[in-house]
Amino acid sequence: MSDTRELIIIGGGPAGYTAALYAARANLNPLVIEGFNWGGQLMITSDVENYPGYPEGVLGPAMMADFRRQAERFGAEFLTDDVTRVDFSARPFGVYVGDDVYRADAVIVATGASARQLGLPSEQTLQGRGVSYCATCDGAFFRDKVVVVVGGGDSAMEEANFLTRFASKVIIVHRRDEFRASPIMVDRARANEKVEFVLNATVDEVLGTGDGHVTGIRLRDTGTAETTEVAADGVFVAIGHDPNTALFLDWLDHDEQGYLVTDPRSTRTNIPGVFAAGDVQDHVYRQAVTAAGSGTMAALDAQRFLEDEEHRSEPASRGQTVGLTPVAKP
Ligand code: NAP
Repeated sequence: MSDTRELIIIGGGPAGYTAALYAARANLNPLVIEGFNWGGQLMITSDVENYPGYPEGVLGPAMMADFRRQAERFGAEFLTDDVTRVDFSARPFGVYVGDDVYRADAVIVATGASARQLGLPSEQTLQGRGVSYCATCDGAFFRDKVVVVVGGGDSAMEEANFLTRFASKVIIVHRRDEFRASPIMVDRARANEKVEFVLNATVDEVLGTGDGHVTGIRLRDTGTAETTEVAADGVFVAIGHDPNTALFLDWLDHDEQGYLVTDPRSTRTNIPGVFAAGDVQDHVYRQAVTAAGSGTMAALDAQRFLEDEEHRSEPASRGQTVGLTPVAKP
């Protein structure tokens, strides 16, 4: 039995689990090192109504458990731990979890991106209960309601404008009186009569009821430090995203924000045999369904790569089961 697997998938969100499903059905025996907090951004979402196939909607964590179970059914194996280091210098590649190393001829990186958070305990408590990080996902829950958008970049302006389709009023809260957003985006928000601005203010606390629903925010004026309360039914935090790519930046081509760069219409990175799928390489669409589609592409790309015998260290290993045990101590 070879110590080297054919495929390791790093990341347990829609992209990683979908890649695992396709790879498992192609007999690639994938090991998914899914992260201690598997499930990704869907774990801080309540109702998901825009994922096809769930006509009644589904809770984000339940959907991720479904994704995981579906991949498991076809033989994907999971390690619920965080990768701490990778070595992509030669095949088979090394993927480290602490002192343990797992080796594979192909790797799919699907570690996603994380929405930046304000860092307030009340924000954590009310996540998915009125605090959201995605207007596209959750805007429709706020028909005829008042919502706050936090941020002064293009995302905040875009989300605010989008939310006016549903909300009766959208209050943009920004910590400065100048915007990072492009002037045209700010002008568009200013021209929208449903949008109001509160500038030079930070959110001190998200206010909620005992049964866990947002009722407003407490604002702090950055000049006077005075606090005021503003009633609202929802808070959209739009202060940017960070791709979870710190482990890969020394190996893989990336843009200035740290998103991995893949070949056009492909999931190939600059290292043959390493593929990237989902939000880790997509800061434009960022949807569960697009991440899942990208995971499919990565599994098919990896499969084709491995079918080329040259790219496998043990051609006879296909279909064999490789244990979860790490192959060696470094
Ligand atoms: P961004 O440009 O980094 O802006 C983040 C905003 O959030 C900034 O205004 C920042 O304030 C504020 N902020 C950051 N941390 C904060 C905190 N802890 N508390 C309060 N406010 C905080 O991020 P983004 O808007 O998501 O945009 C990311 C990239 O995508 C940009 O390149 C953008 O142009 C692009 N994008 C383009 C479009 C479009 O063209 N349609 C739409 C969306 C995004 P400061 O300004 O004070 O730092």
